[in-house]
Amino acid sequence: MPSQINSMKPLKPELLAPGGSLDKCRIAFLYGADAVYVGGKDFSLRAFARNLDDEELAMARYMARALGRKLYVTVNVFASDADLHALPKYLRYLADIEVDGLIVSDPGIILLARRFAPHIPLHLSTQANTTNALSTLFWKEQGIARINAARELTFEQLAAIRRQTDVPLEVFVHGAMCISYSGRCLLSAFLNDRSANRGLCTQPCRWSYGLVEEKRPGQVFPITEDARGSYIFNAKDLCLINELGRLMQLGISAFKIEGRMKGALYLAGTVRAYRQAIDQYWQNPENYEAEQSWREDLDAISHRPYTLGLLFSHNEASHPSDISSTGVLCQSHTLAGLVHHLPAREFPGPQTGTFNGTPDKWTTMAVRSPLQKGALLEFLNSDGTNLLHRLDRFEDINGRPLATAHPNTVIRLPLPFETHPFQVIRTRKQNRLITS
Ligand code: SF4
Repeated sequence: MPSQINSMKPLKPELLAPGGSLDKCRIAFLYGADAVYVGGKDFSLRAFARNLDDEELAMARYMARALGRKLYVTVNVFASDADLHALPKYLRYLADIEVDGLIVSDPGIILLARRFAPHIPLHLSTQANTTNALSTLFWKEQGIARINAARELTFEQLAAIRRQTDVPLEVFVHGAMCISYSGRCLLSAFLNDRSANRGLCTQPCRWSYGLVEEKRPGQVFPITEDARGSYIFNAKDLCLINELGRLMQLGISAFKIEGRMKGALYLAGTVRAYRQAIDQYWQNPENYEAEQSWREDLDAISHRPYTLGLLFSHNEASHPSDISSTGVLCQSHTLAGLVHHLPAREFPGPQTGTFNGTPDKWTTMAVRSPLQKGALLEFLNSDGTNLLHRLDRFEDINGRPLATAHPNTVIRLPLPFETHPFQVIRTRKQNRLITS
């Protein structure tokens, strides 16, 4: 058995965020991610995410390097022999554009990556389910540079592994969870012919189920836990913001946020909350305390009721079960839109004026939710602050005044403060439902 070998001084952990598209990579970096993980068009789980084509991967890599951040590419499909034929070319391409790491799980792909992208560090995906210290040593011998610890571990088990190995460890701190061992689930393949292990999961674990007695075929007995049905496999979402200090003490190398298919509001809210938590702990560990505003950011986004996962669930008095008894998603806010990357001056019409006595700046906004005159907009800054603005004067790009704005249109509006491209704007949901 490995002995207690790890006396490394902990480095500041990396905040690793999902990048389901090039724009999402921009948002993740903007709100403070140290690194982003993305999928290419093939060989990556999350087939429903937009993912990045080869040119976009090169662009994302360039962007990361320019900002002093990192880009990892997931190649974590469980490959069939047919997949393996196309992989060498793809791996050579990823080596050519010098991505900072490949996220892998299939031993065959690991062999190919070592051969065709020998200088690119290999990070072991959660799909490999690493649950003990000996496994970390095994994977180290296979050339793995970092390991994502299985979500099935308790804190004590994670701490024991950390003590016994010098392999950098990565831990999921936020996002959706599988009810099965991560990624090792046949529900979707069995019920819907879409395999989770090919990134095609349709999440049947979250469907509503009934009970059928075998002598009464066709007679479905509801096993109701609320009026919507029963969601017996429906895992709550992981949220470790309040426990981050304990994880920092362990010397974890990276904190990972799940969700390549999630939207801009999720990305901005999660990344800036965990960014501030990591920075505050690092600056002043003795007096570290999770701030209410971080939790508010995490409550603002669409999520199932939160849980501390298996890592801390035995401490969780308020939510003793990891199973959500309802299919309802909680969300206090909705994505109002994004500051558009086109400069306002490209549009005709008035460009300067005064607004509430303050010189105003005209900003273009890509609208994502229906907006009425009078809506309160919150512009999210990366430092955790928000700038509030009542939407009382806005127009279309031809300068026509508007009273409502529709999703997927562009409007412009005068603001008494500066904005920047890809800044996320949220607004409170009308009938908000917070059940966590
Ligand atoms: S069906 Fe549920 S448990 Fe299975 S892979 Fe999909 S999300 Fe995970």
